[in-house]
Amino acid sequence: TLASPTSAPAFAVRRTTAPVPDAERAAALAAPRFGTVFTEHMSRISWSQADGWHGRRVEPYGPLQLDPATAVLHYAQEIFEGLKAYRYPDGSVWTFRPQANAERFQRSARRLALPELATDDFLGAIAALVGVDEPWVPSGEETSLYLRPFMYASESFLGVRPSLEAEFLVIASPVGPYFAGGVQPVAIWVSQEHHRAGAGGTGAAKCGGNYAASLLPQQEAYAKGFEQVCFLDASTNTLLEELGGMNVFVVHADGRVVTPALSGSILEGVTRSSIVQILTDAGHEVSEADVPLATLLAGLADGSVTEVFACGTAAVVTPIGRLAGEGFDHTVGDGAAGPVTMRVRAELTDIQYGRATDRHGWMHRL
Ligand code: PMP
Repeated sequence: TLASPTSAPAFAVRRTTAPVPDAERAAALAAPRFGTVFTEHMSRISWSQADGWHGRRVEPYGPLQLDPATAVLHYAQEIFEGLKAYRYPDGSVWTFRPQANAERFQRSARRLALPELATDDFLGAIAALVGVDEPWVPSGEETSLYLRPFMYASESFLGVRPSLEAEFLVIASPVGPYFAGGVQPVAIWVSQEHHRAGAGGTGAAKCGGNYAASLLPQQEAYAKGFEQVCFLDASTNTLLEELGGMNVFVVHADGRVVTPALSGSILEGVTRSSIVQILTDAGHEVSEADVPLATLLAGLADGSVTEVFACGTAAVVTPIGRLAGEGFDHTVGDGAAGPVTMRVRAELTDIQYGRATDRHGWMHRL
C-alpha cells in the first residue's frame, strides 16, 4: 500500500469498470516500447478563471473530447513534464526529485500564460494515480513507470489570448530499459541550419511547440544516419545548446566537465543538475559555461576532450560516440562509452533504484 501525501488535497477516485486481467497486464509489462502502453487510469484537475483549480479526480484512462475550436489545437498553449516512478527491491515505489518537475512546470506555465499549479496538486495527482495503478509499476531491471503530467488550454475560443479554461492531467506508461542490449553510443548531427528555440522564446519551457520545431531537423538527421540532433544557439549559431530532448556534457582529459550554461533557450534538466552534483561530489571540476562548437571540435581533434554525453529522464545518460555536422565529422574518444559517462550513469541509476544511499534527499516515496 502507498502512503498518501499529508498536505495534498484529496482526489476523488472513479475506478475502471473493466479492469485489465493480471495476465494481460503482465504481458504488457514484459517488454513495453516507450510510450505505447498506458495504465488504466489518469488523474485530472480542471481550471477556469472563474473557479480556479477544482475537480481533483482519478478516472479511467480514455479519450478526451475536444471542441474543434479548443484553443490548444490552434495556438499550442500547452506544457508538459516527464518523470519516472521506480520500484525498489522491497516493493516500495519512489519518484526522483518530483518537486523539481513541479517547479519547472510552474515556470513553463508562466511562460505559456497558463495557470500555475501548486506543488501539492502536482505531487498529489501523481500519488493518487500511482496509488490506483500501482500494479503497473514494473519491477525488472531498469524498468519504471514513466509519468507524463500535462496541461492544455481547453477553452473553445479562436481569439488569440490566454485561455480562460485549462485541464491538467497525469497519464502513466510502463517503460522497459532504454538500451535493451546494453548502453550504446549514439551518433549526433549538429544542426547549423535549424534551431529549436531563440532568445526570448520558449526554449526554457517544456511546451509542445519546442518539440514540433525539432521534428524536421530530427527527421533530416535521421535520414543522414544520425540518431539525434544537437542544436546551437539561434543568436550566434556558434554555441552548443542541447539535443531535442536531452542536455549535453563535455568531459576533458584533465577531468574537467562542462555543460552549456542555462542561456534562456535551454531546458533546465533535472538529470542535468543532478549530474552536476554527482560529478562535483566525485571531485570533478564542473562548470556551466558557453561551449563554442569550434572549441569542442578542436578538443576532439587534439584529444583534450575525451567524452561527450547526453542526459535526460528517458535515457538517463547516453554516450555520444560521433559528432558530425556540415563540414566536420568526429569520433568521440574511441567511439565507445567512456568511463566518466558510465560511472555517472551507474551512480545516478543506483540512487534512483534504491541501490545507493540517497545522500541528497532526492527520492520521494509515493
Ligand atoms: N532538454 C529537453 C529539450 C528535454 O525535453 C529534456 C527532457 N525533459 C531534457 C533536456 C532533460 O530534462 P530532464 O533531465 O528533466 O528529463
